[in-house]
This record gives sequence, C-alpha cells and structure tokens, in this order.
Amino acid sequence: MRDPLENIKPRVRDLRPYSLQPDRARVKLNQNENPWDAPIEIKQEVLRRVADRAWSRYPEFVPERLHERLAEHCGWTPEGIVAGNGSNELIQALLMVTIGAGKRVLINEPTFALYRQIATVLGAEVVSLPLTPELSYDVHSLKSEIQSTNPDVTIICSPNNPTGCVINRPDLVSLLRKTTRLVVVDEAYFEFSDQTAVPLLEQYSNLVVLRTFSKAMALAGLRVGYLLAVPELVREVSKAVLPYNVNIVSQTAAEVAIEMYKSKLRPLIRLINAERDRLFVELKRIPGLNPVPSRANFMVVRSSIDPKQVFTELLKKGILIRDVSGYPMLSEYFRFSVGKPEENDLLINALREICRG
Ligand code: PMP
Repeated sequence: MRDPLENIKPRVRDLRPYSLQPDRARVKLNQNENPWDAPIEIKQEVLRRVADRAWSRYPEFVPERLHERLAEHCGWTPEGIVAGNGSNELIQALLMVTIGAGKRVLINEPTFALYRQIATVLGAEVVSLPLTPELSYDVHSLKSEIQSTNPDVTIICSPNNPTGCVINRPDLVSLLRKTTRLVVVDEAYFEFSDQTAVPLLEQYSNLVVLRTFSKAMALAGLRVGYLLAVPELVREVSKAVLPYNVNIVSQTAAEVAIEMYKSKLRPLIRLINAERDRLFVELKRIPGLNPVPSRANFMVVRSSIDPKQVFTELLKKGILIRDVSGYPMLSEYFRFSVGKPEENDLLINALREICRG
C-alpha cells in the first residue's frame, strides 16, 4: 500500500495541529471566554426573533441588518464589513486572498497560533519577530523589518494572545506609514483594552481589523466574527468566504448583543477588568509568581515552579488553565483567563497553596 500521506504538502505534515486538550474542570479558565454566560435578556430576545423566522429558508445572501448594526457599533461603513463564522474564518479568508507560495507574512511571537498555521498551509513564508523580554511589542524591530523586507501581510494581535500587550496608536500609525502592504490588527480582545485601530481605517486603506463575538460579547458558542477594511478590500475577502457562513441564530444573536451591549455586556466587561487588576495584585504577592500586566481578559504568569506542574496541580483542584509553556519565550509561563470573582478567589488560593509547596 502507498503511504496516503505522500499526498499531503510536506510543510503541512511538519505542522503541529492547533488543538486543545479536552480537559474538564469546575472552574474553566483556559480559553479566554467571558466567564458569564450571555445575559438571559439577550438569549430570550434571540429565541423570540428566531422563532418568528422560517428555518426552512436560507439566511439572506448578505446579512445586511447585521452589517448595519456592526457599522453603527463600530463607527464604520456597512460596505466595509464582512461577518464570519468566528474571526478564525476571516483570518483564513483574508490570507487566502492575499498570500501563497513566494509571499511573506510577518508576525510577532508568542502570539495566536493560527496565523502561522494558516500562512504555512497556504504556502507562504512566516517571518517571526520575538516580543521584547518584557513581552511587549518591539516596535523598533517591526519597523525595521517592514522597511527592509516589506512583507506582504503583517499581523499584529492587540491585545496579544497570550501576553496581553497592546500596540499603541502612534506606533501602529508609524507601521502603516512604512508600507502599502496589508497591516492586520486582530482585536479579538479590544473591548477589555479600550483601544482600537478602527478610526484609522478612514486614513489607511492598507489596514484590516478583525474582531469577534467570542470573548467580551459572550457568544463563543455561536461563532461570529467580523472584519473591517475599506470596501474594495472587503469585496475581495468576501470571495473566499462561503455563502451563508453565519447562520440565522448566530446572526440574530450578534444583532441583539450589539443592541444590548451598553446595558448588559459593558458592565460585565468592567467587572472582568477590575478582577484582572485584582488578580495581578494578588498574584504578585505570591513568592515564585510574576504576573505580566495585561490589557485583555487573561494573563500570563512567570512561575518558578514548572508551569506544567502548576497546570496539573490546578486541574487536580478543579481549575483548568492553559499550558502555554510550549510557545516561544514562554517556557516558564502559564496563562489563565479571568473568571468570576469567586472563581478567581479559588485560583488565588490554589496558587498560594501550590507555591507554598
Ligand atoms: N484571534 C485571537 C487573538 C484569538 O485569541 C482567537 C480565539 N482564541 C481568535 C482570533 C478566534 O476567535 P473566534 O474564531 O472565536 O472569533
């Protein structure tokens, strides 16, 4: 028998799959989700609207109402927005229409693993710059890399998963000015940082912003993301998006979440940010732990105890965090997402015990 793997591109076979251990625990802090479920008022309104709509009919070809809601929510034009089945789909669609063999993608690592994975599958070369030793963006190196090699696509995750660092507006502008190639800002966690690149879309036609309903908007289970760029670019990216990619339940949920954002979701975001700051202070007091300041709803912590051991001991206590020790630069770190206050108390106490030995 011939080896069926001969049919697969060697560079794909060499990739480690992006996957997640299926561990379960009472306190789940491993996927940067909103620890609160979507508020009941949002759920009820979505169910009411969806019940009134024929399920036998396809969604609209272009989900115009969702695009309009998104446009109002973001302060951008509906023609410059495309919704996706999670922002993952839009990262893929964007890279499908921009890169392939012979093209170069610039990323900073450690970062979200999917950029490297999709770029590699598509045959492009991935150029990776390390973050600074403090785990923030090395804007100087980014600028000189863009200046010298002019990569086809530069991807900046802000706040960055898993480190929580952000790129500030003047630094981003300085990168956008250096190139006519695409600069993509993944803002999956922007609601926790109070910082966005969206106002720059007006001025920079090479800027693409990605966002999601999976984190602050508490809809990870329904899979909705969106991409913002100038309408000419959005038209091209849409060619790589499958028809009816966002189902009617998810479309409706995204619309209702936007309508109830200020009253129902923003208070939860404020609470998460306050808890993040409390966790930082509490963990800093524990000998052997060194938390890294974060602008997102998660944090990495440098640990004098092997992070794999921290992971296992927390799991034994019913707390699931993320083992990021295999990421570049993070062999001594673990990551957790901010939970509800009582979950965070459990985490703090458990880490105190583990570090006491
Ligand atoms: N971007 C970043 C930085 C992420 O961390 C994630 C999810 N972990 C995504 C995009 C994808 O999110 P989704 O597909 O759920 O929108």
